[in-house]
Order: sequence, then C-alpha cells, then structure tokens
Amino acid sequence: MDVICHSVDVEIPTTAAEPMLWSGWGDPARAAELPEPVRRLLGDLLGVRAPDTPAAALGEVRLPGPALPAPVVAGLEDAVGAGHVRRDHEARVRHTRGKSTPDLLRIRAGDGSDAPDAVVLPGSHDEVLAVLRICAAHRVAVVPFGGGTSVVGGLAADRRGFAGVVALDVSRLNRLVSVDAESMVAELEPGLRAPQAERLLAGHGFTLGHFPQSYEYATLGGFAAARSSGQASAGYGRFDDMVVGMTVATPRGTLELGRAPKSAAGPDLRQVILGSEGAFGVITSLRLRVRRVPAERLYEGWRFASFAEGTAALRRLAQDGPVPTVLRLSDETETMVGLARPDELGGLAADAGCLAVAGYEGEPGETRARRDAAAAVLAGLGGTCLGPGPGESWARGRYSAPYLRDSLLGAGATVETLETAGFWSALPGLYDAVRLSLQGSLGSPLVMCHVSHVYGTGASLYFTVVTAQSADPLGQWETAKKAANEAIVAAGGTISHHHGVGRDHRDAYAAEIGELGVEILRGIKDRLDPDGILNPGVLIAG
Ligand SMILES: Cc1cc2nc3c(=O)[nH]c(=O)nc-3n(C[C@H](O)[C@H](O)[C@H](O)COP(=O)(O)OP(=O)(O)OC[C@H]3O[C@@H](n4cnc5c(N)ncnc54)[C@H](O)[C@@H]3O)c2cc1C
Repeated sequence: MDVICHSVDVEIPTTAAEPMLWSGWGDPARAAELPEPVRRLLGDLLGVRAPDTPAAALGEVRLPGPALPAPVVAGLEDAVGAGHVRRDHEARVRHTRGKSTPDLLRIRAGDGSDAPDAVVLPGSHDEVLAVLRICAAHRVAVVPFGGGTSVVGGLAADRRGFAGVVALDVSRLNRLVSVDAESMVAELEPGLRAPQAERLLAGHGFTLGHFPQSYEYATLGGFAAARSSGQASAGYGRFDDMVVGMTVATPRGTLELGRAPKSAAGPDLRQVILGSEGAFGVITSLRLRVRRVPAERLYEGWRFASFAEGTAALRRLAQDGPVPTVLRLSDETETMVGLARPDELGGLAADAGCLAVAGYEGEPGETRARRDAAAAVLAGLGGTCLGPGPGESWARGRYSAPYLRDSLLGAGATVETLETAGFWSALPGLYDAVRLSLQGSLGSPLVMCHVSHVYGTGASLYFTVVTAQSADPLGQWETAKKAANEAIVAAGGTISHHHGVGRDHRDAYAAEIGELGVEILRGIKDRLDPDGILNPGVLIAG
C-alpha cells in the first residue's frame, strides 16, 4: 500500500458538560440550528416543513401529581439523607424516560406522564439495599437510572398497581475502587459516566476501549445492564465481554458474581444480570477487564464499489484476520449523505460507492503491521484506500450525530435509528427486509445503513431513518418501527444487537426466546424481586 497512514491524535473526551440537555442530547452549548441550505434540501427532497408548535419549556412539562406516601418519603430520606431525595419539577423531568426519538418527541410536547414521583440518590451498596427494602415494603416501583440514554423505553416503568415510582439514580456511586494492574482488572462503580471512567483509568495507564456513540453521557452500569457495544468493539469487545465480576443489590439481598477469568462452575450467573435492564437488581459495582492505553491510533478510509463487495471484505477480515480495532462500512446512501458537506449538499455524488473505516490501536510496530496486513486483504477484495482523511474525520466527528438529530427534530424531520444483527448468510436478506419495511411504511424516507460491528459468524446492521414529520409523528414512527421489527424477526435477525429490550422490544424479544424462555425470566424475577418493584414492564411484561 502506498498510502501513508500516520498516528492520529483523536481526543478521547474525559469530561462531559453537566447536566445534559433535558429535552435532547448532550451539552446544551452545542445545540445548533440547521444551516439554511440543509433546511431547503430537506424540504425539497423529503417534504420536511417546520413544525407549527414550538417545543415546550422545562416549566411547561406536565407531570403526574406526586404520589409517594409520606412514610415512604420519610423512609427514603432516612436511608440516603434528605438532600438525596429530590421531588422538584426539574429533577423529575430530567429522569423522565430516555433519549429515543419518541422519548424526545413526547418531552418536547410537554408530556411528562412517565415521570417518577421522586429521584433517590443512594451513596453506597447498603443504601441501595435499603431503598429497595423500603420500596418493596410499600409497593413502590423502582427504576434504576444510569445516564438516562436508553433508546428502547428502558426507563419508563409501568406504574399501574404501584403506590408510586422512584428513579434510583446511581450517579453518586462514582468511584474507581481498585486497580489490579497485574490481572488488568479494575473495580469501578456503576454511576461513572464513560468519560469519567476513562479519565480515572488513564491515571493508571489503562482504558476500557468502550466508545459507543452515547459515550459522553452513558454510565458503566447502563452498559452492563443493557449489553452495550462500542464503536471499537472489533478490537476491545462488547461491554459484556469486559465484565469479569459484579455486585448486585436485589430486594432479596446481595449477589456477588465472578471470581475467576473463566469458570466451569455451572451456568454463569453474570449472564443473567447482563442485559437484565434493571428488572432483576441494581448493579452497584463492576469488575472490568481493562487494556493498556494504546500508544498509536491509525484510522483510514476505504472505498468499495458496492455494499455487497464491502461486506464481503469485512467478513473476510472478521473471519481470517487480521482484525482492526474499528471496522465499519456505510451503504451507498449513508456514504453519499456522509460525504456531503452541509454547504455543498447540491452536489451529492451518486457514485460515491461505499465508505469503510478501519482503525487500528495498539503499540506502534504491531499496529502498523496489522494495518498493512489488513490493507492487503481489503485491497485484494476490491477496496481502494482513501488514506487517513475519511478515517480521521469519522473519528473526530463520531459523537456529533445525536446533536444533529436534535436540530433535525426541531426543523420538522423525524430521525431515528434501529439496529439488528444476523449471521453473514442472512445479512443481505436482513438489509433488504428492513429497508423495504421502512420505505413501505414511511413513503419515501431516507434510509441509511452501516455494518457497525463484526464477528466471525456475522455482523450487526445499524439503520438511520430520516423522514418528514406527519401531523402525528409518534404514531407515524410507531407504525414504521412495528413494520421494521416484524421484518427483522421474519428475516432471522435479533431484535437488538446493542440497544437492548426495554419496553419497545419486549414483545419481539418474547417472540425471539419463546414462551419457555419468558417463563424462565419470569421465574428469576420472581425469586430476586418477589414484589415485582424493579422496572415493571421493562424486559418482560408485568
Ligand atoms: C445518541 C445515542 C447513541 C447511542 N449509541 C449507542 C452505541 O453506540 N452503543 C450502544 O450499545 N448503545 C448506544 N446507545 C444506547 C444507550 O446509550 C445504551 O443502552 C447504554 O448502555 C445506556 O447506558 P445508560 O447509563 O444511559 O443507562 P440508562 O439509559 O440509564 O439505563 C438503561 C437500562 O439499564 C438499567 N440500568 C441503568 N443502570 C443500572 C444499574 N446500575 N443497575 C441495573 N440496571 C441499570 C435502566 O433501568 C435501563 O433499563 C445510544 C443512545 C443514544 C441516545
């Protein structure tokens, strides 16, 4: 390969502006209006028109009247300290639902009907146990709350049959407890947001290597509870691969799980908690496998003539190696939109092909050798190396898409993402089925897709949809999402590769694991949470 790749200085954020925008994503200072040419183009291409009603202000969000009985409030204040039980309007709004597009549409319309009655902030494992005891005794539902970035309805408890709902916010559990440098295992508390965790670990020369798009605001507990996967998962693995042990508070007491790197001592109960989305217990501590901070990062772009050709090349690398740390491939539409500059949108290049990004992180000699060997494979399978430019600009801009979503919502477009995974042999069918379902239900939306995570046996597909908001944008998206879910199931994909189940995927998940599977989950929940107070309605039906 004659393209020169140099180590790129991609800043890994180690702080996030607090608090996050209550009605959208991220740092409020970064909220931006759409440039006029983009607005015009959205109008011309998709018929997007500015909405008639402006978004509600924080004080205008309508909340249910506070329902917590006085003895519960007193008990909670006694358990965690009066200052750590918040019942004010702002705290309740900030803990209402997550950050999916329907969540944002509802809160921007002033609908706070899923708000908790109180936000409780325990400062230790024992305080979490105490909160669970009090809530179980008074039949109060508890929603474990991490970064609040769920996009599957994981934070909207069903309050029917309960005396009230509290959000159990773990943000005070935010310590790096210990680092076992010899074993490369760190114990961290679940309320650490990813940038805070990276900053603490960097002090010891380590990284988790977990960089999902929600990196700036999501927490370690949320990653474990929802089986998150980061953009560098090809190299560092999914979050559930990193969890070697954990402590879990349940209404029945404490679970301590994981005492060796691998074990043949029966079924692995860590797997029961990973992905349980707060319905079985509250994760209060995590023992995580860490990696050394890489000395070098190389990112570069590749062009393939078609999505099928690019997918075949990614498969070859995933199966036969060498495996890059980051490996992703955009389809033709995503490539075309991604290459367009907002001020140059008139010049969308229809023959841009498909852009792949390959990134390599590690020690200088090893990284370059891995890059050269992978580059030879990609070139041999039809790829053209575009050099570091596209890879580095992807790496620099990789946390900005959620900000753009807010701007588009404000301009009258619905933008949402959905994802699935399947075996390589099923992937083309899955891709076609989801696209067709979205096109069928939304008329002529923009549907973009990329291969986001690769494995030897298959890959995940991540779709982004942009469409003009109808008069009922929530109903419009509900119909489209239902059609996409059905298409995923029919084409043999999983209902989620990394967003989780929540309430939005609950029925499709039940169909995926079957009646007996649901019974097993129900049995586990009944044992750990006999009063059913933990996140009712999330993961399995209440
Ligand atoms: C813009 C955007 C981009 C995203 N990109 C990605 C991505 O690239 N990869 C990815 O995997 N996901 C992504 N997500 C989804 C989301 O960030 C992940 O699901 C993440 O794991 C949630 O973490 P959190 O701390 O925000 O958890 P929350 O949203 O607060 O909670 C998620 C679920 O876990 C439960 N929970 C939280 N903390 C605990 C705990 N300590 N114990 C028990 N249960 C708990 C909650 O009750 C809830 O059901 C994205 C979301 C957004 C909004």
